[in-house]
Amino acid sequence: MKYDVAIIGSGLGGLQCAYILARKGLNVCVLEKNPVVGGCLQTFRRNGVEFDTGFHYVGGLDDGQPLNAIFHYFNLLHLPWHRWDNDAFDEVRIGGQSYFFANGYQHFADTLAEQFPHQRDNLKRYVEMLKTVGDGLKNSLLPHSDEEVFSRSLFTRSAYEFLCETITDPLLRDVVSGTSLKMELNRRTLPLYVFAQINSSFIQSAWRLNGGGQLIADELVKSIRQMGGTVLTLAGVVELVERDGRLAQAIVDSGESVEAEWFISDIHPAATLDLIKESTQVRKIYRRRIGNLQNTFGMFTVNVALKDGTVPYLNRNQYVYRTGNVWSLADYADRPTPGILLSYRAEADNRFARNIDLLTPMYWPEVERWADTKVGRRGTDYEDFKRRKTDECLALAAEVIPNLTQAVEKTFSSTPLTYRDYTATAQGAAYGIRKDYNNPMLTLLTPRTPVPNLLLTGQNLNLHGVLGVSMSSFFTCAEILGMAAATDGLKFED
Ligand SMILES: Cc1cc2nc3c(=O)[nH]c(=O)nc-3n(C[C@H](O)[C@H](O)[C@H](O)COP(=O)(O)OP(=O)(O)OC[C@H]3O[C@@H](n4cnc5c(N)ncnc54)[C@H](O)[C@@H]3O)c2cc1C
Repeated sequence: MKYDVAIIGSGLGGLQCAYILARKGLNVCVLEKNPVVGGCLQTFRRNGVEFDTGFHYVGGLDDGQPLNAIFHYFNLLHLPWHRWDNDAFDEVRIGGQSYFFANGYQHFADTLAEQFPHQRDNLKRYVEMLKTVGDGLKNSLLPHSDEEVFSRSLFTRSAYEFLCETITDPLLRDVVSGTSLKMELNRRTLPLYVFAQINSSFIQSAWRLNGGGQLIADELVKSIRQMGGTVLTLAGVVELVERDGRLAQAIVDSGESVEAEWFISDIHPAATLDLIKESTQVRKIYRRRIGNLQNTFGMFTVNVALKDGTVPYLNRNQYVYRTGNVWSLADYADRPTPGILLSYRAEADNRFARNIDLLTPMYWPEVERWADTKVGRRGTDYEDFKRRKTDECLALAAEVIPNLTQAVEKTFSSTPLTYRDYTATAQGAAYGIRKDYNNPMLTLLTPRTPVPNLLLTGQNLNLHGVLGVSMSSFFTCAEILGMAAATDGLKFED
């Protein structure tokens, strides 16, 4: 059977593209190498406790906000969303002092101005900027929009320089940047657009999903199948075959081939090109360009199962830093863990935490020496390394959970190598290709490739995260359907 569109990878981007195209009547087939769909949305169980792999929370899901419209389109609003504390959805702790992020631009600025009264006007200018960027998002999804030009100009501006110009108190600069494990806080590369769009969406409203990101993936698969689409697991693509200058078929690891008119890749662009062994369209220079792109940091995650009734559930995320200077996280070398994100999962009645995840950036060079090993067989020195990192993360977490040592039932940990092996993400990068404001033309990929019927999607394009990947899905499908048809049914409130 020949499909209209074959999609490689069932991460959020792959599934959303399949949904958009199936909704328009195209015959789609998603090919996923793992037994479970979802990529970084996956949850997993250990000791009877459910943990998230990547996704922990989203922003902008309230009525009238961008992700609400997007999730309405994808029929995801009925999932068990839970709102984090409106007055303190994030807590940044630097030098033993806590600072709280409140929802709503004005509320956010007013809350921080209580601790930084001399920065009230600067905070106002800061949130005005975030609001402008956040409001602009929906325009970029309109047919014939000139918003892309606006967004792209923000891709050429440095986030760090904007902050230095806007906020004169260095501690407040660290505080407003302190929830930024959500992106790679790199002062030499991070574009203002990425910083502003992500912060803006969480300041609008912040939500977690009871049951974890897997519910999003499973719900999308259900809808795709109801619309006649196909989703295959244990179907890793090992080759994309080009014929007469166009892709003709995907060969999966079972040896079967899947033919299609169009192909969309939701996997890393360099991994995509590796699948095309022979091509008249992909020149060496393009392969080199894509192969040379830098990736963001990966994540070290400690999943902590807690003893029953030991740690009260906290309806916010906590970011705990050893010292300030959060913009130096990107200079991270083999030194004590500088900061962590703590994310709580509640028991049914929301009184106690069932488990917490501790996340901290980890760079590829830190794990590269085990690059040739496989999951579960990386050796005792790797286990020792993970144990040392786990202890460092637990020590930081103990600053806000004093009884943590007694409360821990069991810990599990993962490194960028884990992500590389499960999702095939280059270098286990948490957020895909690093966008660089010095080089937006090179680092900002469009869905198009030199092969006319091969498109890219997912977090390696414009913006990572649930919001960014959702936007890219529409941009990718617009290459096949046109923007008006791709966004037909997507309605933003004015
Ligand atoms: C630790 C961590 C925490 C995060 N926290 C958040 C958060 O709180 N909020 C948020 O909005 N975002 C968060 N993100 C980011 C978000 O999860 C990702 O941006 C998004 O899920 C990426 O989706 P994707 O479609 O680009 O690709 P992926 O999720 O990487 O999916 C790619 C899929 O392709 C499959 N695949 C790979 N190779 C092949 C092949 N050859 N054949 C077939 N299939 C293949 C993989 O198995 C995988 O299923 C987090 C990410 C990480 C890593």
